[in-house]
Amino acid sequence: MEPLTIEDVHIQPGKLTLRVRTASHARRTSDHLARLVVRDFPDLPQHSCVNPKGPAFASVIADTSVPHLLEHLIIDLQVQEEPPESQATFAGHTMWLDEAEGIASVTVSFRSDACALRAMAYACSYLNDALAKGA
Ligand SMILES: [Zn+2]
Repeated sequence: MEPLTIEDVHIQPGKLTLRVRTASHARRTSDHLARLVVRDFPDLPQHSCVNPKGPAFASVIADTSVPHLLEHLIIDLQVQEEPPESQATFAGHTMWLDEAEGIASVTVSFRSDACALRAMAYACSYLNDALAKGA
């Protein structure tokens, strides 16, 4: 089993909802994984993020759920595909459906469904590579 599996994709107007299953060793981020993703996605720490520790994703990036990191990666990749003059903003939300089983629901907004699906596929394989290497 891959560390991260997208079991279901639900597309509504402007909104993508994923059902994500995480292996038991791939539920939480670590300092090592956080350093790796910030190296590859330098804007990630500045993402606005609703969390108990602060206004940005930086506050929790090294100690949050892997599905929450997936959410922010999908948003980051969508922002990268927007033209420079774009004022588009993207929002997301992640929650455990069954934390003991490692099943989470990840919702992200989009402007283009094709872009969102590309971002989803890339973010998932990126995280699977990183986690397989022991991040
Ligand atoms: Zn967040």
